[in-house]
Parts: sequence; C-alpha cells; structure tokens
Amino acid sequence: MAGKKQVVEIIALACTECKRRNYTTTKNRKTKQEKLELMKYCKWDHKHTLHKETKVK
Ligand SMILES: [Zn+2]
Repeated sequence: MAGKKQVVEIIALACTECKRRNYTTTKNRKTKQEKLELMKYCKWDHKHTLHKETKVK
C-alpha cells in the first residue's frame, strides 16, 4: 500500500492582536500554498481583526 499524501490540512486561525486561536479551518495544500490571512471577528477583542494561519497539533 502506497502512503497517501494528505493534501487537505487542518489549520487554526489565530488573532494577531490577542494571539488566541479562534477558528479552525481546512486548507488544500495543492491549491493554496501561501499562509492564510483573513479578517475575522474576534470575540475577545469584540471586533474584526486579522487572523493568521497557525498549525494545529
Ligand atoms: Zn483577538
């Protein structure tokens, strides 16, 4: 059995202001190679902030 490469990766989106990981999502490594950066609502900051991709373990 050949080892299947996992293309879809689970990642966390961390708020750049308070550093909390507020969201998890998936990313297809084949189609999206750069780091995700999204404006998301942070319930700790009570506003939309920039969230950046971090690893989930
Ligand atoms: Zn925050």
